[in-house]
Amino acid sequence: MAPQYPNVPERGSSLSTPVGMLAGVGKARAGQLQQLGVNTLGDLLEYFPRRYQVEKSERPISELVSGQIQFARGEVIAVNYIPYPRKRFEATIQDPTGTLSLTWFNGAYLRDKIHPGQILRVQGKAGLFRNQPQIVQPRWQIIAPDAPLVGDDILRAIYPASTQLSSMQIWKIIEANLPSALDDVQEWFTPELLAQRSLLPRKQAFAVIHQPPTQEDARAARRRLVYDELMLMQLGLLVGKRLRQADVRAPAMRLDRLLDERIRKRFPFQLTEAQTQAVWEIVRDMQCDVPMNRLLQGDVGSGKTVVALYAMLVAIANKQQALLLAPTQILAEQHYLTISQMLAGSGVKIELLTHEAKKKGGELLRERLSRGEVHIAIGTQAILSEDVNLPDVGVVVVDEQHKLGVRQRGILREKGLSPHYLVMTATPIPRTLALSYFADFAITTIAQLPPGRQPIRTQWFRQSEAPLAYARLKNEVAAGRQAYVVVPKVEQGTEGDDPDLKNVQDHLEKLRAGELHGLRLEMLHGQMSSEDKGRTMLAFRDGKIDVLVATTVVEVGVDVPNATVMLIENAGQFGLSQLHQLRGRVGRGPHRSHCLLVGEALTEDAGQRLDALVKTSSGFDIAETDLRLRGPGEFFGVRQHGLPEFKLADIAGELEMLHLTREDAKRLLDADPQLRRPEHAAIRLELLRQFGDALELVQIG
Ligand code: ADP
Ligand code: MG
Repeated sequence: MAPQYPNVPERGSSLSTPVGMLAGVGKARAGQLQQLGVNTLGDLLEYFPRRYQVEKSERPISELVSGQIQFARGEVIAVNYIPYPRKRFEATIQDPTGTLSLTWFNGAYLRDKIHPGQILRVQGKAGLFRNQPQIVQPRWQIIAPDAPLVGDDILRAIYPASTQLSSMQIWKIIEANLPSALDDVQEWFTPELLAQRSLLPRKQAFAVIHQPPTQEDARAARRRLVYDELMLMQLGLLVGKRLRQADVRAPAMRLDRLLDERIRKRFPFQLTEAQTQAVWEIVRDMQCDVPMNRLLQGDVGSGKTVVALYAMLVAIANKQQALLLAPTQILAEQHYLTISQMLAGSGVKIELLTHEAKKKGGELLRERLSRGEVHIAIGTQAILSEDVNLPDVGVVVVDEQHKLGVRQRGILREKGLSPHYLVMTATPIPRTLALSYFADFAITTIAQLPPGRQPIRTQWFRQSEAPLAYARLKNEVAAGRQAYVVVPKVEQGTEGDDPDLKNVQDHLEKLRAGELHGLRLEMLHGQMSSEDKGRTMLAFRDGKIDVLVATTVVEVGVDVPNATVMLIENAGQFGLSQLHQLRGRVGRGPHRSHCLLVGEALTEDAGQRLDALVKTSSGFDIAETDLRLRGPGEFFGVRQHGLPEFKLADIAGELEMLHLTREDAKRLLDADPQLRRPEHAAIRLELLRQFGDALELVQIG
């Protein structure tokens, strides 16, 4: 039975109060807060400090906070005794930031104690008198100019500010409203769980994170609130998974030794140990009637395609169809060629789904597909959005796409299909993401390259050294090899475009006339018709082209073992994972290969990316670095998953907490699958509020 969830509730309580109605927030302030994304009291409570600043309670005069007891010091610049109407002694002290008025009533005795030129330290409650900082009845003491600062340190929260709203102003608004916000903070977890994980109560954590007595307290508060963020996500993911799997059955496949041998015989090489291991993990899933949701990750060139092909052949032997979805038409065609070659003479019917093919033999193809006469259908994800009907699809393989075809999955589901899914990726999922955004997936890793591969040599050339890079490229071509030259753009755009960015058309002409004169050059980019692209790719594959000048359309999957040079112009422009992908287009055959990065690093990040690429060849290290440099939001579009980004947790650094929360979330849902227990009411509401849409919980129940 699928768990049932009610409609998404509003956030109850005063936490939904609009900021405009809060203490100390007028119309202008409300607008400024909204610009920072703070619309309600609840948002304000979750507007977390970026860091804390230790403040000596002795502070510069200009930074005295009115209403608080503080210390200040300064040189006496004026004194005055006023006998009438009320006897008082006045002094003014000055520090580099301003002047402070001091008043002692009945202070006649101070006349021969305090004189101009002395350095005074005073303590008292600061206020304003005629717009001038003032302390009445301060304690005072004459000190040496170099006497150390005194007072108990306090920690002040520093908030992300805007030009109109300073951190201090935010601090004051939060201070004024914190008590009423805290009133409505609900505990999410049981005292036993909190004790077991040494977590502060939730209410206390919110109080302390804004006003921590010590750094250690601040850390404990942060830890508790990060735990909550991650638990919420883990619960959301697990609930979503249970909902998706409820009442859905995939075809359970059979595999025996005979079939295994028959499949392996089809491959022109022996599977590596890593590939065999991957095959077992995948097939074990497919033998169950729970739909597989597995990610097959392996560095570029690790040989994922045959592993996927193995899975497809198991499906076909079980009277099912297989669907292979590639991110681009070029790749779909390439898969079609590779797989057709391997399966030549086998009786497996393979069909390439292109828009053109569908137009030409449209009716016929559709019929053959829906009659189940096609065993393997290969196409782009786009093709699936149309009226392709695969009645018996048992396994869907998605290549080099992290978006995971959420929409496509929906389409298949609407047709009543729940096949096994295998997603191939050459950008490894950092462990922190595997435990969070990708936690829905079982992960198989191919951690070994096929035998005989040579490491790729990566070098970075400044723009002025470009001729050296092209000389290396020419050497390789002279030795019978082929090369890619990748540039960021297709053509020179309108003005406003960065003139330093190279484009395919101009660069091809320039190389033809200059550095690469006499070689056979062709271009490849995404604006060419798919026929032209296909023809060019084939010619390159057949060795009829020496150098392909291209955009990043060659980024994924292109497999031409004789190509040994990947020269990337304006290399600083590209993302780290993207550069690694491009590099993976070479080093696919027995020859030593080269990745030549050309260009200046215009930003610090760009420099770090290029350095990282030169230093490491491990896709896993690259992915971790990339995640750190870019954050999870940009890292291959995890936003697509519909999960919110975190306010507090820095996911790249929370490996341990991710493990912990994953475990706790499982245990919690095992004990209370629908979160019906009263002690889970608060988290249940929050789960629906934050994840209801993303997890399609709303439509259920
Ligand atoms: P990727 O994981 O990047 O998709 P491919 O599946 O395209 O890698 O494989 C890269 C190259 O390695 C292909 O030319 C493929 O034929 C070859 N290959 C794959 N597995 C093996 C193996 N076990 N032994 C030798 N060559 C292999
Ligand atoms: Mg591939």
